[in-house]
Amino acid sequence: MATKPSTEKEVKTSKAKSPRATKGSSPEKASEKKTAKGLDSMALIHGQSPYEELVGEDYMGTRQKDHFRNILHAWKKELMEEVDRTLHYMQDESANLPDPVDRASQEEEFSLELRARDRERKLIKKIDETIKRIDEDDYGYCTTCGVEIGIRRLEARPTANLCIDCKTLAEIKEKQLQG
Ligand SMILES: [Zn+2]
Repeated sequence: MATKPSTEKEVKTSKAKSPRATKGSSPEKASEKKTAKGLDSMALIHGQSPYEELVGEDYMGTRQKDHFRNILHAWKKELMEEVDRTLHYMQDESANLPDPVDRASQEEEFSLELRARDRERKLIKKIDETIKRIDEDDYGYCTTCGVEIGIRRLEARPTANLCIDCKTLAEIKEKQLQG
């Protein structure tokens, strides 16, 4: 669904004017930003307060598992609502525009929306898998080295399955493979 080169400039201009096009394209990033902010303030993590550890509490005991289950369920709900909103928005906005420039602009916008939805769907699947890991007592430990991933890292990245060291290493390896 490529836009004709001749209309590309107009498309960009009209995209910049539409607040929806810039806002709607990346809900994943927006929620990441929210999470990062939550670390240095009392901000909520997908509507949940940051975890307060009790003295001598077991790692990934019932209370901690419930906490992360709540975060993951709330996050999933947010994403599903966003998918719904996008769908309705596209149904509402979809029109037979007579102007080819408008039409190209709408196509471009919709393809961004669809890509965002695809990312959300993948993320929802990952969240489901993560909730399953909690149910199976498999959550919160690095799948590579077995170390505790830690509550703060999990709050920042609730679907993380690697500790920060293994994650860093995996990223370095991936970069090397790419050349
Ligand atoms: Zn590890």
